[in-house]
Amino acid sequence: MWGDTKGRTMTAQAVEEDLAVVIGLEVHVQLETETKVFCGCSTEPAAEPNTNTCPVCLGLPGALPVLNEAAVEAAVKVAKAIDAEIPAETRFHRKNYYYPDLPKNFQITQYDAPVCRDGSLEVDVEGESREIDIRRAHLEEDPGSLVHVTDGTRPLEARRTSIDRADYTLVDYNRAGTPLMEVVTRPDFRSPSEVRAFLAKLEEVLEYLGVFDSERDGSLRVDANLSVVDGDAVAADGSVPRAVLEEADRTEVKNISSHKGAEKALSYEASRQRNAVQRGREVEQETRHWDEAKGVTVSMRAKEAEKDYRYFREADLPPLRVADWRERLSIPELPDARRERFREEYGLSREAASKLTSRKQVADFYEAVAEQFDPDTAASWVADRLLGELHYRDMAVADVQHRLEEFTRLIELVDAGEITVKNAEERVLRTMLDEGLSPDAVVEREGLGKTDDDAVVDAVESAIAEHPDAVEDYHAGEDGAVNFLVGQVMSVTGGSADPGTVNELLRERLEDDGSS
Ligand code: ADP
Ligand code: ZN
Ligand code: MG
Repeated sequence: MWGDTKGRTMTAQAVEEDLAVVIGLEVHVQLETETKVFCGCSTEPAAEPNTNTCPVCLGLPGALPVLNEAAVEAAVKVAKAIDAEIPAETRFHRKNYYYPDLPKNFQITQYDAPVCRDGSLEVDVEGESREIDIRRAHLEEDPGSLVHVTDGTRPLEARRTSIDRADYTLVDYNRAGTPLMEVVTRPDFRSPSEVRAFLAKLEEVLEYLGVFDSERDGSLRVDANLSVVDGDAVAADGSVPRAVLEEADRTEVKNISSHKGAEKALSYEASRQRNAVQRGREVEQETRHWDEAKGVTVSMRAKEAEKDYRYFREADLPPLRVADWRERLSIPELPDARRERFREEYGLSREAASKLTSRKQVADFYEAVAEQFDPDTAASWVADRLLGELHYRDMAVADVQHRLEEFTRLIELVDAGEITVKNAEERVLRTMLDEGLSPDAVVEREGLGKTDDDAVVDAVESAIAEHPDAVEDYHAGEDGAVNFLVGQVMSVTGGSADPGTVNELLRERLEDDGSS
């Protein structure tokens, strides 16, 4: 209450307008490899707990780690994608701490020679582009997962709960040893929405590289550091002097697992710290837990310092020379480049290009469709109609990729005037998705063919075929010839056709003939 801070109201308000938020991230992403990073166990989700395990990932005495080349390759690709430095030699360290999800009591990670240093990623926030510096990105192993449960006779799944309500905790080592890449940014973010945009962009890039699966539970985990500083310390380009950053008291918010969650957690944490500062209180340097269900961050523990981890070299893994891996490994066209190319090559709007390129599979599908139709037609079918219908059904392009031909056949039916756009979208496409039928099968079953219109089209073609002199007159510039042909069509169809439509169809056909 303001009453408690007698006489400080004015200063408090003055301070309020003048506080800037500073955020830096440590993002853990699971790298998609078939096997774990230091053993041959599968990384696929298993039906039973503790089945994808072996002496190495269970941390049994005497078991030795063997580095998975595919995990290092994935990390080098990420390094290339974010334009980072790859050292001549990369090394592994042990980070020592005790926790039940970590059977060895240390985590194999990287310390002084990470596989990736000094990169950056550009993000667009509300039309403005900002470059976020990535200080380092290193490889490490994921710990196991803890399952907190309550006592009772209900099935285990129904007894899962949060750590503070649990009667006991189970541990599953299936995840232990899954390759992780920890991406550490500089404190370059000035708002929670920038963080959200960055995470979305990072996922895009990782998916394009084929090293990440965003659909997998827990594949992205974020620790976010946040402090509030004097707004005057922020330069026009958004930079904050090092001394100010170092002096600022910051909290680390853990347990964030989505873009939206990150934005919410950090908005909460930003106002919590602002309030504290405005009331003249200190912000404690601590680790806080994001409680997604309650929408609050809660204090967990005092922040550990680096020295608490007693880092030392992992003697069981020799240093790895990666100097020439940059040359050896190639990466595909990345989302930004593809977006630009879509705008230039297909003449798409910024919005359409963005929509079509944010997922690689969508972009690939679009390009396949655009090979057969003009780019705008392809864009409106893929970006507007197909994606909308898929989204509604909680499906992804991956689910219909193998039906590309059926999808192009649908567009063809519309193009050929055999079905209306409305029917194509509202009846044929929807039934294709719901029942797995081909477009022709739907058209036939539902009787959607434009039979009356077909008759008109036929009559138009025969009128043209039967009156070459009228066609010649038309091409010679005699517009009245069209009226003659309209009359022919009207009489053949018994007057049921719409003269305006007939006129249009005739002109289209005549122009087609003239240009061939
Ligand atoms: P630590 O020694 O705690 O690991 P680091 O320098 O390694 O600190 O930085 C950890 C994270 O904290 C990085 O993501 C960095 O961007 C972020 N960070 C550093 N200073 C600040 C600050 N003043 N406010 C918010 N985040 C910060
Ligand atoms: Zn194993
Ligand atoms: Mg750190």
